[in-house]
Amino acid sequence: MSEDCIFCKIINGDFGTEFVYETENTVVFNDINPKAPIHMLVCPKKHIASLNELEDKNLMAELLQTVKDVTKKIGLKSYKTQINTGKEAGQEVFHLHIHVLGNKK
Ligand code: 5GP
Ligand code: ZN
Repeated sequence: MSEDCIFCKIINGDFGTEFVYETENTVVFNDINPKAPIHMLVCPKKHIASLNELEDKNLMAELLQTVKDVTKKIGLKSYKTQINTGKEAGQEVFHLHIHVLGNKK
């Protein structure tokens, strides 16, 4: 856990944020400022600043499997995924996350 990371605090349960889905090493919660009717963030529980710092291939696979499983769980067949990496690409929170955006179930 990184002390000054907002997503670490969310994952730690500090704000009582509801998790849409959770696996051993990943967690999914809704974006606070949704850019689509469904906007979830899929994160590793471990603090990893961005995709550039992700080296664990098993965790890479688990993150994508979580995208598949959470969308299936909520009945979302069609969705977009986005990973912003680096400030210049629009990354604002430096705890790796995959945006999952969808319109309707
Ligand atoms: P980035 O620009 O880093 O790819 O995306 C960060 C996302 O995190 C944004 O879509 C923003 O709305 C979301 N976000 C920032 N702070 C919080 C928060 O405290 N709670 C939740 N649920 N989402 C947040
Ligand atoms: Zn973090």
